[in-house]
Amino acid sequence: MTADFSWIQPHPHGIYIAPADCWIDPSRAVETALVTHGHADHARGGHGTTIATPETLAIMKLRYATDDGATPALYGETITLPGQVRATYTPAGHVLGSAQILLEHAGERVVITGDYKRRSDPTCAEFAVTPCDVFITEATFGLPLFIHPPIAGEIATITDALAAHPERSVLVGAYALGKAQRVIAELRAAGHTDPIYLHGAMEKMCALYQEHGVDLGDLRLVADTEKDAMRGQIIICPPSALNDRWARRMPDPITAMASGWMRVRQRARQRNVELPLIVSDHADWTELTQTIEDVNPQETWITHGREDALLRWCELHQRKGRALAMIGREDEDE
Ligand SMILES: [Zn+2]
Ligand SMILES: [Zn+2]
Repeated sequence: MTADFSWIQPHPHGIYIAPADCWIDPSRAVETALVTHGHADHARGGHGTTIATPETLAIMKLRYATDDGATPALYGETITLPGQVRATYTPAGHVLGSAQILLEHAGERVVITGDYKRRSDPTCAEFAVTPCDVFITEATFGLPLFIHPPIAGEIATITDALAAHPERSVLVGAYALGKAQRVIAELRAAGHTDPIYLHGAMEKMCALYQEHGVDLGDLRLVADTEKDAMRGQIIICPPSALNDRWARRMPDPITAMASGWMRVRQRARQRNVELPLIVSDHADWTELTQTIEDVNPQETWITHGREDALLRWCELHQRKGRALAMIGREDEDE
C-alpha cells in the first residue's frame, strides 16, 4: 500500500482530521477539538467538545472558566473518533497533562507531538517514543546553537546567589504554567526547604499542580508577607512582572529568568536579567534530532519554530521533511 496521509490536513490554524471532522490544537473555536496541552497557543475555550487529558482539561477550566464538552482521555487509552479514526494520547514531557496524540486510520499512524521535551521533569510524565509513519514535531529551539544545559546547574545558580547575598532576595521570572512549577519542584529536589514566595498570578496554577500530586512544598503569597521576611528567600513571578512596579516592592532583588531563550544574551539584556537561567520545557537541537531518529518515521512534518535547520538536517540524513508554517505558536516567555 502506498503511503498517502491525505486524511491528515495541516492548516495555519490547526491540524484537521478529515474523516473524523476534528481538529488538533485549533486556534479558533470548532465543533470537536483534540488538545495536546494547556498553553494558550494550543488550547482555547469555546469548542463544542474538547478531548484532552484530565490535567489539561483542569488547566483549561481554570483558564477559561468553562468546561463545556470536556471529554477526558487518559494516557494510553484509545478513543474511537468518527470516520474510523482512533486517537491515543501519550505523554509529551512538556508540562502537567501534556500529550502527544497518535492517530490511526487506514493502516497509517500519525503522531502529533504538540510541544515536548525529553529531559526529566518532576512535574509531568516522561515523553514516550511512539513509532509512526508521520511524525509531526515542533521545532521551537530547532537550531544547533540551542543545547540546553542540565537543570541542576541552573537551579544551583539561584541557591548560590542567595548564599552569597543572604540580605537580598532572588526574584525568578517564570512562565505561570509549567516553568514556575518545574523550577519550584527542582529547588525542592535540590534540598531547598524554605518557603517560596509567589506573585498572585502564580497561586491558582501552583495549587492545581499540588491537587494533581506534584509536591511543591511550602508556598506563600508575596501579598501576605512583610517585605523583610523575604530577605534571603526566593520569589517566583511571571516574566512580565520582573520589570514592573510590583518588583520594586521586593527586598533588594537579584533578578533571574528561567527560559530557553536565556541562551540568547540579547533577550536577557532586554529584560534586565542579572541571572539568565537556561531552563526550557521544549526539546533542544539534540533532543529534536534524537527523537526523529528514535521514532524513525517515513516523514517528519514540522509545525512551528526554526524549521529551516531541522528540514536541512532531515535532508542530510535522507529523511523526508515538510514545514507546515503554523501560525501563532511562538512561546515568547517559554
Ligand atoms: Zn507549550
Ligand atoms: Zn507551543
